[in-house]
Amino acid sequence: MNIDLKYIRNQFPILEQTVNGNPLIYLDNAATSQKPLSVLEAEEVYYKTINSNVHRGIHTLSQIATVEMEEARKLVQLFINAKKDYEIIFTKGSTEGINLVASSIEPLVKEGDEIIISHLEHHSNIVPWQFLAKRKGLLLKVIPVDDNGELILSEYTKLLTEKTRIVAINHISNALGVINPIEKIIKQAHEAGAYVLIDGAQAVPHKKIDVQALDADFYVFSSHKIYGPTGVGILYGKERLLDAMIPYQGGGEMIKEVTFEKTTYANLPFKFEAGTPNIAGNIVLKKAVEFMQNVGLDNIMKHEDDIMKYTTKRLDELDNIIIYAKDAQHRSGSISFNLNIENIHSSDVGFILDKQGIAVRTGHHCAQPIMNRFGISGTVRASFATYTSKEDIDKLIEGIKLAQKMLG
Ligand SMILES: *Cc1c(COP(=O)(O)O)cnc(C)c1O
Repeated sequence: MNIDLKYIRNQFPILEQTVNGNPLIYLDNAATSQKPLSVLEAEEVYYKTINSNVHRGIHTLSQIATVEMEEARKLVQLFINAKKDYEIIFTKGSTEGINLVASSIEPLVKEGDEIIISHLEHHSNIVPWQFLAKRKGLLLKVIPVDDNGELILSEYTKLLTEKTRIVAINHISNALGVINPIEKIIKQAHEAGAYVLIDGAQAVPHKKIDVQALDADFYVFSSHKIYGPTGVGILYGKERLLDAMIPYQGGGEMIKEVTFEKTTYANLPFKFEAGTPNIAGNIVLKKAVEFMQNVGLDNIMKHEDDIMKYTTKRLDELDNIIIYAKDAQHRSGSISFNLNIENIHSSDVGFILDKQGIAVRTGHHCAQPIMNRFGISGTVRASFATYTSKEDIDKLIEGIKLAQKMLG
């Protein structure tokens, strides 16, 4: 089935805007996606009619807010097929989810243990592990990538030892759009006795995720990249591991009993949810998930796959353009390229595109190591969502042609 693009686009009022005198062409979805009306309206309804703190009040509104937030947790559980709803922890984003694990996992690691990440990671899946490595005396190892931007799995196999305690890998690269073979990576890590965290920030917007089938120990993603509000994220963790971990932050909500001598912690998931959460955001995330389910995950995947193929073909027809990871076997969501003109930066191209109302991301995409690997300071990245049309891509191509003329 093809998706009804007109119907979908009508749900995103922001797409009707003009920017710099031109209709907005929004191709920066890997940074954040736009929000459908159902999400916008639910945010307003929450503050107009429900607003109350959760898990505390005996009063009616507090109870409604609590029920709705727990319903959202339940929906996320089903959405990624977690076994239990309390394995779903609300965070403020993928970054916080990774920091939480890299901090709370301390009792499960010891000095001399090893962490494996990849050359393809977002900074938020590098720096928290550097912190942990420094605090606990762990060694950080990096899976290299080949010229296609694909992880070299034979090198990964060599890096795995009996000391490997954690493997932290992104599911889909935000810098190159490469889909990593995480099924194999997870299996091998488990055979070596390591825990695996998957950074799914770029995968959940584009792919059906089943954390049990993947057998991921931890899986993180951000609401704002799946049509939901900012300031909300999800950490999925296996119950057994979350139970063995220490709390991330202390405060209200996360305790059972507090005295000055000793504090006991609340059960999952509240042990990891100190303080007042983003109640509105957590509740409204439900609408974002429902939006994706209504369009249909299979339809989203097929549509975006068509857009990816079309964009690759159209870009490839241009002269003097370098497309990164073009020959990688599996790509989704984003495509990165540069004009092959000396002394021209990706931001020069981004600036010219912006003047035409075309929003792309330029620079290192919070992934400097992979830029260094390719010997560049940045790329132009066009990234897709379910509302992206072929006409958007045609506009992008026209914009690039103009940039070539102006900069060449
Ligand atoms: C966006 C992104 C993150 C960080 O997500 P936040 O929502 O900014 O916390 C981490 N990893 C990848 C691959 C991303 O694309």
